[in-house]
Amino acid sequence: MKHRKVVKVGGSNLREIKDIRKISEIICDYEQAPIVVVSAFYGVTDKLIACLDQMLHNSNKISELIDYLYELKLEYILELVPEEHLRNIVFSNIKSKLDDLSSYLNHLQSKGTFKPFDKDYVLSYGERLSSIVIWGTVKSIKRDCELVLPENIGLITDDVFGNASVNLKLTKDNLENRFNEDSLYIIPGFYGVSPYGKINLLGRGGTDYSAAAIAYCIGASTLDIWKDVDGFMTGDPKHVDDPQQVNHLSYLEAAELAYFGAGILHPRTVEPLQLVNIPIRIFNVFKDNAHSEPQTVIDHNISIFPKVIKSLTFESKIGILSVKGPGVGFIPGILSGITKILYDHSINISSVITSQISINLLIGLDEIDEAKSLVESLDIHAVTDISANKEVSLIAVVGNGMTKIPGVAAKVFTAIAQEGINILLSSLGASDVVTYFIVDKHNTKRAISKLHKALFNDEVIASRAIA
Ligand code: ASP
Ligand code: MG
Repeated sequence: MKHRKVVKVGGSNLREIKDIRKISEIICDYEQAPIVVVSAFYGVTDKLIACLDQMLHNSNKISELIDYLYELKLEYILELVPEEHLRNIVFSNIKSKLDDLSSYLNHLQSKGTFKPFDKDYVLSYGERLSSIVIWGTVKSIKRDCELVLPENIGLITDDVFGNASVNLKLTKDNLENRFNEDSLYIIPGFYGVSPYGKINLLGRGGTDYSAAAIAYCIGASTLDIWKDVDGFMTGDPKHVDDPQQVNHLSYLEAAELAYFGAGILHPRTVEPLQLVNIPIRIFNVFKDNAHSEPQTVIDHNISIFPKVIKSLTFESKIGILSVKGPGVGFIPGILSGITKILYDHSINISSVITSQISINLLIGLDEIDEAKSLVESLDIHAVTDISANKEVSLIAVVGNGMTKIPGVAAKVFTAIAQEGINILLSSLGASDVVTYFIVDKHNTKRAISKLHKALFNDEVIASRAIA
């Protein structure tokens, strides 16, 4: 099992028939049969969510969704699986999954309500369906592969709906000796099963994390993630000029970039892998000889050459909840009361920045209003004002060791100041890997393109940053 690779293929590579054929060929080109974890086809998870959101008020939504998925899968299968016998098997598998999904949704519709576990179960169908099509396509090319489901192999989660963690210990016990060395396996990502037998999702984009957990549990030699872009870059090509590719990142750098908005990787992917130093290799399907050269490798090594700062990223789906009053930062117990009530309501705090008169919590935009009401309900004596600012963006600059090198922060803040942009809050030194700050949302684009230029395009400044 030593050199076994786990391979993750994702939604943006699973858009059109030619993408699916290409990714299936890539899977078949691996010298030793890999374990492949697949996410849903492009946009399917969003469609499942939209159906759940609308079906209680619009009776046509379920049949619209099922017809759409049926047509889509049929079109794929007709093209991708030419052998009649195999095609019939793939088709009947898809058909029975769609029948299950349809009756489940109809049952929820007739009840007029659904629970978090229903949502997790329904959303897992994106991956259940895509994995059947990939299985058929790979089988048609290579003829030997097995489709296995997380609930059948024992990918055990912690019973948190929508955003579960994998229980690595139990899953490792279950996966030990589960896979035959020479067979190629296809596994749907994004979900696991709780100890009580309920389907739990691993959070949006969670297939990366499923694949990482499986790689950890079988002691894989690498986790290979296939993308349709060049791995990590110094900045998002949609927003900065001349971004360069980042060939290497440490686990912490990749985790910080992912946490602060770089959509290329699920932020929890590194968690299991860094425990045992399994490298993550990110490949681009569109590169010639794609197999030979990963775009970005992530492992435990720390590289500060050629630049200590590796990349910058931003997150706009975030707001600041400010809790103000004379001495709030000073009076014991206020912060713990706030964090407790938010925790009790499963609201995640991305960061906390406090001063003597103000506690500022960075909270996702989808939860900030609820967080504000909860903090108001505490009726804290010393608090005179609670406000939520939703018109902000967080910009993060990432690089191992940056806080140890004099002048890096000065360069970052000078670049922003030169643009005449006001920094609302900043956090520096909270970790050795990231400096971040908050600006008004309308300044995001200007701030990141100026900062990117200063850090990566302007050689004089960049070379001073590593001096
Ligand atoms: N299909 C899921 C999502 O869209 C999981 C994934 O893509 O990794 O979030
Ligand atoms: Mg993804």
